[in-house]
Amino acid sequence: MKILSRLISLASRSFSIAQLVDGEEMPVLLPFYHLVSDQEHPFQYNYRVLSASRFREDLDFLLEHFEPISLEELHSGMNLKNSFHLSFDDGLRECFEIIAPILKEKGVPATFFVNPAFVDNHDLFHRYKAAVLNQFFAKKGVISDLQNTYADLMSLDQMAEDVGLNWQEYLEKENPYMTLEQLFQLERDGFSIGAHSWDHPEFWLLDEERQLDEIRESMEWLVANFSPKIKAFAFPFTDFGVSRFVFDAIRRERLCDLTFGTAGVKLEKESRHYQRLSMEAEGYKSARSLLKAEYLSYQLKRLVDQHVAKRE
Ligand SMILES: [Zn+2]
Repeated sequence: MKILSRLISLASRSFSIAQLVDGEEMPVLLPFYHLVSDQEHPFQYNYRVLSASRFREDLDFLLEHFEPISLEELHSGMNLKNSFHLSFDDGLRECFEIIAPILKEKGVPATFFVNPAFVDNHDLFHRYKAAVLNQFFAKKGVISDLQNTYADLMSLDQMAEDVGLNWQEYLEKENPYMTLEQLFQLERDGFSIGAHSWDHPEFWLLDEERQLDEIRESMEWLVANFSPKIKAFAFPFTDFGVSRFVFDAIRRERLCDLTFGTAGVKLEKESRHYQRLSMEAEGYKSARSLLKAEYLSYQLKRLVDQHVAKRE
């Protein structure tokens, strides 16, 4: 954790959550996760993997202080003060096996953002390939920190081949992703399904037309397979580097009803675009400590007028 984050985290202990979420101009709380697992998981190289008991504690904390709302309610323009909407990115099978049952038990609505290229385990996201390779090397006592972009995919695939890792076999054996059938079941259970780009490239490395193709193709897939009441899209990684031109095209072509970034607790100038908060940040022992630090940071930014997300 960086020194400033640590100071803010320490300072936030003196406040109650109610004090920190109070005030004008408070953005709606949109926590997001990728997976929950009690197993040693290779994707821990990409983000902190929370245990099922920690996830339950997070939910209990959120339910104690905020009101859970559905994607439709988020879109409706109702008073969003003290409400939250949960979402989960990348469509991993733990969403179906571990997360959804806990959400059902606690009565919490959620949206699952998926990449069509990976549904049914047809392919593996390049950062997950890097994570699997990191784990492979770690088991051999070699510390590696591969952090490739989609542009280095060929060299990554070559590296896997060189060490005898076959992605097709890996996908068949591990089934990291949910199947289309499982996504249909989630929709029948009342959850929302949204798109997360076709195959999760770094948008800041794409030109605007290619960004729009990623959005159009994944949204078309969504509408062809599901009956989304609200057409939602979460930018892969972040919305950093996404221009006004792209937001205008999304609106003009009516591609999405709602879009999401990952800048934390922040206000947004773009209409129908919201920032979400990663709950997998390192260094926080509970959702309470993470949220208190995040809201204190927001309140401080508000004092110096830095509380609205910036992109360009
Ligand atoms: Zn993602």
